[in-house]
Amino acid sequence: MNNLEKYLTLLNGEVDGLLLTSRYSRFYGAQYDIAEGVAIVTKAGCRYFTDSRYIEAAQKGIQGFQVLETNRENPYNDLLNRAIADFGVTTLGYEEGYLSVAEFLDYEKNLNAKLVSLHSKIAGFRAVKEPWELDRMRKAQEITDQAFAEVLPRIKAGMTEKQVQAELIYCLYKNGGENLSFDPIVVSGPNTSLPHGVAGDRVLQEGDFITLDFGVLWGGYCSDMTRTVALGYATDEMKKVYETVLAAQQAGISATKAGVLGRDIDAAARAVITEAGYGAYFGHGYGHSLGLEVHENPNCNPKGDVPMKVNMVCSAEPGIYLPGKFGVRIEDVVIFTADGCEDITKSPKNLIIL
Ligand code: ZN
Ligand code: ZN
Repeated sequence: MNNLEKYLTLLNGEVDGLLLTSRYSRFYGAQYDIAEGVAIVTKAGCRYFTDSRYIEAAQKGIQGFQVLETNRENPYNDLLNRAIADFGVTTLGYEEGYLSVAEFLDYEKNLNAKLVSLHSKIAGFRAVKEPWELDRMRKAQEITDQAFAEVLPRIKAGMTEKQVQAELIYCLYKNGGENLSFDPIVVSGPNTSLPHGVAGDRVLQEGDFITLDFGVLWGGYCSDMTRTVALGYATDEMKKVYETVLAAQQAGISATKAGVLGRDIDAAARAVITEAGYGAYFGHGYGHSLGLEVHENPNCNPKGDVPMKVNMVCSAEPGIYLPGKFGVRIEDVVIFTADGCEDITKSPKNLIIL
């Protein structure tokens, strides 16, 4: 079943059309990325609307949809209402998670169909990846691993976090990244206790931990990895915390296979950190799904009550954060298989001291 056929399975009486407004859902259904547009999916036909900036690319690249141009004479809502009439649509499933209130109110007022919230079902198809999607994620991760190897020799005492961030971004693009999957996190010394700290003007010193959390898009799909390295030397406490986080990640990865609940994977990793006495310092969840977006569902956190399936993808990123001192996070991305998982992050995980 291709992705558009998956969407068609939602048209079962509750709704007879889908209104695809987010870039992600349009990409997924059309298997082609257009920055701006709107698409409508029905059993009687599918149409994709975009403006003159994208129309040529859309007409060449999009399969399965009739592609039409929006312009001053043909605003989006008129084109949608024409499709609603032509295809006999009465109820449209929409993506409430991606629409602003203003956009929703505009659709509700002007479209000649009843709107039904359907975000989680539309986005839900993306949780289990197709083989071609997994290949893109492996490629995105390969670029990210290569960038990590190339940035390490560039990191020196006396540089600022922002300068390291700039080098990292350069290495990500140089190795083929199409875009950043998020602003890379580069924090050093006491700033490493901030799980999502922002790179600033702090100058790197010997004895610092440096946490790098970064990823790229390739073919529209995200990578995401974290490594914590030491500069010059690491104290015994730093080494102990590092080894605890690494053991927790390995426990999580060992518990990862199809059929297991996300919360059980989180618990396997969390137990290692709790037993070492650092339970209070691991505040976030163990992992999140990713794909077209860097954070998707389902999650492997204490609330994760969904049995994970073959070809779902999840990050494995336990951490320990000691306020005012330092923090450590190590993050890989794994693909669920029937009897375990494939770790697509290949960078070394032993403590690297630069
Ligand atoms: Zn990350
Ligand atoms: Zn992550």
